[in-house]
Amino acid sequence: MFGGMHASVWDAADPAAAPRLMEFVSADGQEPQLDARAKGLIAWAANQNIGEISTDGERVAFVATPIPSTTGAHHVLAVAAGERGALKLPREQLRTWLPRLARRLATLRSLLDAQAAVTQSERHADLLLLTATQLQDHRTIGDLGASLCTAASHMMGTRRVALVRWNPSRPAGEVAYSIRGHPVVAGSVVTPESQVGAACIGDYPVLIEDATDRGRGFVVFGGEEEQHPLGALAIVPLRGGDGIIGALVMENELPITISPTDAKNLRLLGVMAAHALETVWEIEEINRRARTDALTGLANRQQFEERLTRIVMETNRFGGSCTLVVVDIDRFKHVNDTYGHQVGDEVLKRVATALQGEIRNVDLCARYGGEEMALLLPQTDLSGGCQLAERLRTAVGGRPFVIGGRDIRVTISLGLATYPEGARDRDELFSAADRALYVAKREGRDRVVAGGL
Ligand code: GH3
Ligand code: MG
Ligand code: MG
Repeated sequence: MFGGMHASVWDAADPAAAPRLMEFVSADGQEPQLDARAKGLIAWAANQNIGEISTDGERVAFVATPIPSTTGAHHVLAVAAGERGALKLPREQLRTWLPRLARRLATLRSLLDAQAAVTQSERHADLLLLTATQLQDHRTIGDLGASLCTAASHMMGTRRVALVRWNPSRPAGEVAYSIRGHPVVAGSVVTPESQVGAACIGDYPVLIEDATDRGRGFVVFGGEEEQHPLGALAIVPLRGGDGIIGALVMENELPITISPTDAKNLRLLGVMAAHALETVWEIEEINRRARTDALTGLANRQQFEERLTRIVMETNRFGGSCTLVVVDIDRFKHVNDTYGHQVGDEVLKRVATALQGEIRNVDLCARYGGEEMALLLPQTDLSGGCQLAERLRTAVGGRPFVIGGRDIRVTISLGLATYPEGARDRDELFSAADRALYVAKREGRDRVVAGGL
């Protein structure tokens, strides 16, 4: 248009440094080489209106004009005629056309920026909508956590996302879900002194775009987490009906920019997440109660029956043996008659706690009848089962419980049987253990008897 050799855009934001070439078009495909005079003119043009270098009176060889910007970026559009040439347009027209072209460039660039922002927020809005519809369907914290964390991860472009469950009355929390590969796994502790803890207690979001210069005392979760590189951190507290119930925690290894749109979308995701989480946690609580004995907190009969079936199936599949121990409190009727039913209840609770204290995580302790309890021990043979049963017997009968200032001593009788050595199926396993218990009672109580076919 101007008949020049080169048209180029320069970054002259730093007045102390030489202008930096950003883009160019040239007739010969060569990068424009500007002399010191032209570069000086570009630097000058960055803050002035239009600058030009003339070869002779009327003909202009080089012009430079700033590209207007609202962000204060000092970009300069330059057109050069090349070696000893001159631009075709007369000086007056150059003065009109070049700034106009620069303005068009500026408009085009802000449009592109705006379009990029719009597409991103549209994409995020779609994601939010999709997440919102999916959230209704989740019934477990695993499904819901996966859905929420994935949405947050896509939105922020970070791969370290975790969902924290917060208990305001303790106050403390634990990681309820974290994206695969996250250094902090589900079940990890969240302390009140940590960043997440403080955000939950204070009910404020945290958005740190550059967290690289945080000191040693800056811990995100506060539990046993290993130190891992932290570039950026976002914490969105989740507000339920009775206060803060959790938080979404996003971390990035490198600093990132969090636009106001991102921040707004995150807040929206947080509101949606809080509603869905309350529902899921309620469902889980109802399920837990349905499978738990209210008095002792042990598994109830239903859970015991289910687990008995499963444990026998697993033993068939993986080999080894499993052992069932049934426990009955000796002369419990006498405890009730002497101290009253309430004290009887308390004794039941103490016995339950004592039994629970002796077993592994994989074992199940259930109350399946009035004062009858049972323990299911996967991958345990008869001799291992007998050892545990003896331990249980001393844990309960070894010393009295102090209830209401009184020493109350109870003993237990235990019967056990092992699958597949002592029984052909689940029902036989139970009746073999029950028969052994009956023998223990008959032989004088406060003892362990192993049964079998
Ligand atoms: P043994 O087993 O040694 O033969 O004698 P026992 O007295 O324990 O036997 P029995 O099965 O006849 O009595 C069980 C008693 O347990 C009867 C019942 O009142 C009491 N019991 C059952 N469930 C509960 C409960 O939830 N709370 C209280 N306090 N007592 C209970
Ligand atoms: Mg009894
Ligand atoms: Mg009984």
